[in-house]
Amino acid sequence: MAVRNIVLLGDPLLLQKGAPVGADELGLALSIGNDLRDTMRAFRQRHGWGRAIAAPQIGVSKQVVFMEVSSPQILINPIIENPSAETIEIWDDCMSFPELMVKVRRHRAVEVSYRDHEWQRRRIKAEDALAELLQHEIDHLNGIVATMRAVDGTAFALRRQRMQKREM
Ligand SMILES: [Zn+2]
Repeated sequence: MAVRNIVLLGDPLLLQKGAPVGADELGLALSIGNDLRDTMRAFRQRHGWGRAIAAPQIGVSKQVVFMEVSSPQILINPIIENPSAETIEIWDDCMSFPELMVKVRRHRAVEVSYRDHEWQRRRIKAEDALAELLQHEIDHLNGIVATMRAVDGTAFALRRQRMQKREM
């Protein structure tokens, strides 16, 4: 069990592109995956949200994502394919800036090809919330933070302001 510090917005580590995992580095990728899992679960316990995390968010420049939507899974070297022409605008959040939300535009549907925990090639077809999540995490692997996807200068809000609005 290794809960790592989450790299916060403003740290140049978040802007680094992750290196691809080599075929001889599966063990390394799995151990990064375990740290991502433990770190994300600890975050979720504290904040009540968080479904996926990318290696650069714990300061590791590798193409590894851990995701826990229905069941836990590791995505190694994930790549977006066949993004839909149709896009959606949504308020996005991120464990690297838990107090802030940012409105971004994403493809409504994507396919993602990746290697799983046994180095098998896999493919996910995703729409809406899951598609958004995958685009967010794969952006992290490429040194892109959601704030860089802001639709315009008014696309920022504090989380507690958004939550207040929801309660009203
Ligand atoms: Zn994020």
